Amino acid sequence: MAPAADSPPPRRRKKPKFGDTRQLFVRLRESLASGAASLPDIAHIVARELPADASVIYVARPGELLELAATYGLNVSAVGRTRLRVGEGIIGVVAASGDPLNLADAQNHPRYAYKAELGEEGFAATLAMPVKRAGRILGVIAVMSRQVRVFAPVEVESVATVAMLLAEILAGVGATDLPEEGFSDTLPRRYAGHVLATGIVRGQILGFGAAPPIARLMTDDPEAETKRLERAIEDANRSLDGLITGTLPGGNAPREVLEAYRMVAQSAGWLTQVRAAINDGLTAETAVDKVSRNLRERMRKIADPYLRERLADIEDMIGRLMVALGGMPPKPERADGLILLVRRLGPADLLDWHARGIAGVAIEEASASGHAAILARALGLPALAVDRGAVEAAHAGDEALLDAEGGTLILRPEPEIIQVYDRALAARSVRAATLATYRDRPAVTQDGTRLTLMLNVGLAMELDQLERTGADGIGLYRTEIAALAAGGIPDVAGQAAEYGRVLDRAGAKRVQFRTLDLGADKLLPGEAGQGEENPAMGWRSLRIGLDRPAILRRQLRALLLAAQGRPLSIMFPMVATVEEFRAARDLLEHEAARIRPAPECLEAGTMLEIPSLLFQLPGLLAEADFISVGTNDLMQFLFAADRGTPELADRYDTLSAPVLEMLERLSAECDAAGVPLSICGEAAGRPLDALAFAAIGVRTLSMSGNAILPVKAILAAADLNTLRPILRELRRAGAAGGSLREPLTAWAREHGLPV
Ligand code: PEP
Ligand code: MG
Repeated sequence: MAPAADSPPPRRRKKPKFGDTRQLFVRLRESLASGAASLPDIAHIVARELPADASVIYVARPGELLELAATYGLNVSAVGRTRLRVGEGIIGVVAASGDPLNLADAQNHPRYAYKAELGEEGFAATLAMPVKRAGRILGVIAVMSRQVRVFAPVEVESVATVAMLLAEILAGVGATDLPEEGFSDTLPRRYAGHVLATGIVRGQILGFGAAPPIARLMTDDPEAETKRLERAIEDANRSLDGLITGTLPGGNAPREVLEAYRMVAQSAGWLTQVRAAINDGLTAETAVDKVSRNLRERMRKIADPYLRERLADIEDMIGRLMVALGGMPPKPERADGLILLVRRLGPADLLDWHARGIAGVAIEEASASGHAAILARALGLPALAVDRGAVEAAHAGDEALLDAEGGTLILRPEPEIIQVYDRALAARSVRAATLATYRDRPAVTQDGTRLTLMLNVGLAMELDQLERTGADGIGLYRTEIAALAAGGIPDVAGQAAEYGRVLDRAGAKRVQFRTLDLGADKLLPGEAGQGEENPAMGWRSLRIGLDRPAILRRQLRALLLAAQGRPLSIMFPMVATVEEFRAARDLLEHEAARIRPAPECLEAGTMLEIPSLLFQLPGLLAEADFISVGTNDLMQFLFAADRGTPELADRYDTLSAPVLEMLERLSAECDAAGVPLSICGEAAGRPLDALAFAAIGVRTLSMSGNAILPVKAILAAADLNTLRPILRELRRAGAAGGSLREPLTAWAREHGLPV
């Protein structure tokens, strides 16, 4: 559609009441239906029906320019002549930021740019709205009023909808002269990110997600459109049911995650908004698109990770609806080896893509505790939460390196970088094959010391790692993870069923269940936390359990029921005093007395995460059946260093004299008291740390599944008798508290150990 400055204005109608969205849409629909909807028509209709004194439509041109394509109320002779750079003037600022501006008096705004040819004198209020599609700015539409006033929310909403329709029109006819991907380049780009699930992948970017222009934007038969919507909802639900019951690809889905997702995706009020938009005259797909745009805007402003995840779930459902409505192409059958790069990703979509063969995923808006991240880890799919901007900069088919270890996504990498990664990947696959040979071998050092290596897991679906790694058991079953994934704590029967599945899968292998460790950064949906200044040191974990014993008692009952007479080991997190441990154990014994059959053997242990316990060891060792050191929390409390602060991540080290001193003494005292000790923090899964822990006397380590074989490999190659004097010397030299990692790594390399 060429921006014709002189096309005839639409017929004049009765002036609608202020902000009557319906009238505006009726006029637009008539104009679109007649096939003659030109940009001047749209400018005219918007100004007249909103009503406003003037309107302008700018479209993007190559070279980061915006050109006036139509106006109503300003000088038509400026059309095609007035050009603004992105960032210049109010229009340019809106194009640059992608956010609307609603200004009572635009000409007094510091970024206002005067263009003599426009004839803007006398106008005050300006509402400028970006015309966006698939993350690209295609133009800007603005309405103006002579009065100094702020445009009302209903007017903002109307102009936002017109901007959306305009985006579809511009994309449909290529009216911006821009290629579909907008302002793009072919240079390499790097995006930092945090690792959600480890792994390195080289592959092409999967080009999926940008929907084609919507063919029919408006309707005069809302009833028929509502019926289409309801049918599409049924289709989308069916595809989801298929995923849950396993008839579709991705069918081994962890049911609890998908059920939770379905509840959110279907219950939210967003479907009501879609129905209302259809009643306003939009087609079903336009209405769904409109609501999803609003949702995206809201999501950009939400900090709470759980709420964002819930919204991502809804977006996932929206994608399914769009496919069902024909507004989006169905996913390709296969996506083997491709890297999926998306803004957000719901759990069902992740499973779908995994079943189609993607090799890795980069998500702009993801949190490590979100559904997608939990699933990615469970599926062993490398995943990165990547900085914003990557989606915008990528094109389908771009070569990319997803380094979900170093935490980078490189788009269009330089050939030299590709070579470096290729070499590393080749070495890695040789190493993976070598590591696999350790699976069925016990963890024994050169000098014959046998270690017990156990798994840290949080979802029943991770249990196949027991076989895949040959682990000796489960040293830490984080019971709160399933509750977080499901969006709530299941009832006693639900919990018992989950724990029973874990025990069934573990068979004769030991399982140490940790009671709910909620609070701080692990909040259930809808829980805002306590508003504490230091939630990690706040009312969390066992502290909640002891103050609200009903929850803890229900969980203990579920564990006892699940055991059905089998041996049961339970440990309590965030214990600070022997009294707290005793109180928790008393609750366990109270519940145990009521449940038959009683476990063949019932053990109550404690996590050691709070330094105060180190100074109550005689009392603790007299009462606890076992101790498991949570180095993640212990390190943060020992060094007063928040475990979530990236700037502090490398500042204090487990491989340092004070930490090794503390662990060595602890290990010796536990041995003397005959109380089994294990370490289950992240450090236990780092090969060099694991080796040092073995050298100072620790015999049981618990770690994530992918750490077991590398730890076994380093243990198998090391002689603890050779290491001990070296370590002693390094500790003496590093008594000031600094890290011993570098010299120890150098020693390990010299001795051919796989670090
Ligand atoms: C720890 O604190 O080391 C631990 C294992 O518990 P979490 O990481 O779940 O807090
Ligand atoms: Mg902890």
